[in-house]
Amino acid sequence: MAALETIDQILLEIEGYNVKADVRLVEKAYEYAKSAHQGQKRKSGDNFIIHPLEVARILAGLQMDVVTLAAALLHDVVEDTNVTLENLEMEFGSEVALLVDGVTKLSKIEYQSKEERQVDNLRKMFLAMAKDIRVILIKLADRLHNMRTLKHQPVDKQKEVAEETLEIFAPLAHRLGIFKMKGELEDLAFKHLRPESYYQLVNRISIKRKVRENYINEIINILNKKLAEMEISADIKGRPKHFYSIYNKMVNQEKDINEIYDLIAIRVIVDSVRDCYGVLGIIHSAWKPIPGRFKDYIAMPKPNMYQSLHTTIIGPAGEPAEIQIRTWDMHQTAEVGIAAHWEYKEGKSGDKDFDSKLSWLGQILEWQTDSGDAREFMESLKIDLFSDRVYVFTPKGDVVELPVGSVPLDFAYRVHTQVGHQCIGAKINGRIVSLDYKLKTGDIIEVLTAKGSGPSRDWLSLVQTSQARNRIRSWFKKQKREENLDKGREMLEKEVKKTGLDINLVLKSEYLLEATKKFRLPSIEDLYVAIGDGGITALQALGRIKDSLPDQEKEEPKQKAIVKPWDGYGKASQGIRVRGIDNVMVRLSHCCNPLPGDEIQGYITRGRGVSIHRQDCPNIVYAQQNEEERLVPVSWESEEDSVYQVQLEAIAFDRPRLAMDIMNTVADTKTVINSVHARAKKNSLAVVDLKLEIRSLEHLHYIMGKINRVKDVLEVKRITPS
Ligand code: MN
Repeated sequence: MAALETIDQILLEIEGYNVKADVRLVEKAYEYAKSAHQGQKRKSGDNFIIHPLEVARILAGLQMDVVTLAAALLHDVVEDTNVTLENLEMEFGSEVALLVDGVTKLSKIEYQSKEERQVDNLRKMFLAMAKDIRVILIKLADRLHNMRTLKHQPVDKQKEVAEETLEIFAPLAHRLGIFKMKGELEDLAFKHLRPESYYQLVNRISIKRKVRENYINEIINILNKKLAEMEISADIKGRPKHFYSIYNKMVNQEKDINEIYDLIAIRVIVDSVRDCYGVLGIIHSAWKPIPGRFKDYIAMPKPNMYQSLHTTIIGPAGEPAEIQIRTWDMHQTAEVGIAAHWEYKEGKSGDKDFDSKLSWLGQILEWQTDSGDAREFMESLKIDLFSDRVYVFTPKGDVVELPVGSVPLDFAYRVHTQVGHQCIGAKINGRIVSLDYKLKTGDIIEVLTAKGSGPSRDWLSLVQTSQARNRIRSWFKKQKREENLDKGREMLEKEVKKTGLDINLVLKSEYLLEATKKFRLPSIEDLYVAIGDGGITALQALGRIKDSLPDQEKEEPKQKAIVKPWDGYGKASQGIRVRGIDNVMVRLSHCCNPLPGDEIQGYITRGRGVSIHRQDCPNIVYAQQNEEERLVPVSWESEEDSVYQVQLEAIAFDRPRLAMDIMNTVADTKTVINSVHARAKKNSLAVVDLKLEIRSLEHLHYIMGKINRVKDVLEVKRITPS
């Protein structure tokens, strides 16, 4: 293609696909850009205006609207000339200005590292792109032209740009379904990044080209005859293959070039969906299909809207050949992807499903605000957007798309945050699986939940999506808030106590609210949290509270808390005996998380029972010095109260929900389930294996009794691991 020197050809092209287009905007943008870039040269020696012209031509090839083409012509004026965004907005309106802004780099900020600069520019681009998808189409066209002219750059720069293209822009084109661009971007990047491999491959492929072309023609001839007999009109062609995708297959699947099936690739384009399946039937009856290679993307389109039937057959000479079958509409979508769904007249998408098909853009926005670290951002970007996908089903049949390697938890968090938090297991195609099960396309997933259960820290290393990871993290953040809330309350109570003031009087909510206002905190809870996490000292808080107390209540006689003399330990509550009291409310404190076997100490709180701390907890050390009277001896119910993992096996008549009923029964007893595995046996029996955390023999017998009473359970045994 000869380089463009004027806008005329592009104007003709626009009128070819949209007669109503107002091309004056494009003309004006061209004149404006030309004078702004006057005197500037590309590294190739060309006048700079060649670049925006070529970018606009690429976009006209995708049949984009005039606003996009105008913005494409102007895309470098803000970055490279004295023209400002305000100038553009005045001349061309806010829509054009917004698109140009989206592709303009943040050049004025100083960055510590190249990585940080790259991440910030990408963030800006994604943000703009979520507002208007045309931003990314301009950016892709810009990159494509820069890649086509990359040889004029210094070698260092070549590698850097090629790498970024391969990591970010080619996958992005793929996600948007613009295969026309994706293939070319990849091949250009490949050529500059690994020239030896590239030229070696080009040579090897060209050696057998003649043989291959003959073979393809033979298949096409046979097929044409058969289709004519059936009166199906079709356009059948050999399909060009991209070098990078072949190279990738050879490297990833450790295959030799002779083992790559789709070197021989044929595309059949027909008029209707019915004809697609008709053609498929004819192909499959003429040649033997290779099992497992048939894919129906018509019934189940890819999220980037791609539709086609794919099959691989053993052709006439015993060589495999890959065949794609699609309609003309599908073909247009496959070539230009999202751009095919652009509605010109209203400047908005005309496709009703457009938004849901772009839901992943929303996800980018979600984590683009969440992850602060540059490296983490790049990692999330690559996993969330560019990794291969699996498509799984909800029990109702809705399709959910997740990155390869996702586990049931990723699915659960995608469905709903609460479903994720309360997930205790999952069933795939009716069978219970472990939480590290890797989802496969076609799996039907049912998430098992239990009220009141929460995430575990191990989940962070299991999940694949940043969505799940972020939600688990924020759950722990919130937990931390509750710990600080308790701690803050205790600290403030202690402080009040030291003064000898009446706690019930001083800590009335009206006074607390006054103090809260003075610290500019949103609620009393936040006041406690602030004390708990050290943002405000208890003494400061008390000072503010005292300010708002009526005078007569400020000075109270000192009084000691009345503590009954204890006599022996009371009955156990939650596995803990408190000396002198039965069934007192007991809480294991979150500051030191005592475990059975730890030396422990009780602390009498106001109205919240006895909190149990480890003997060496700083809060206890503090209490020993300042308020010994609130400490009370406590002990574990039984000294051998550690937790043991016990394996149980339940044999039952197989039925739906069997394993779930057993799990729920166990969960009701607050027993920790480490794993559940169910399998069918002969004679309509099923075996459910459970690994549980058991505290004592009594506990074990209690659980076994419970399971025994679940409907259809015949026997429960304890298994000794050999
Ligand atoms: Mn540019």
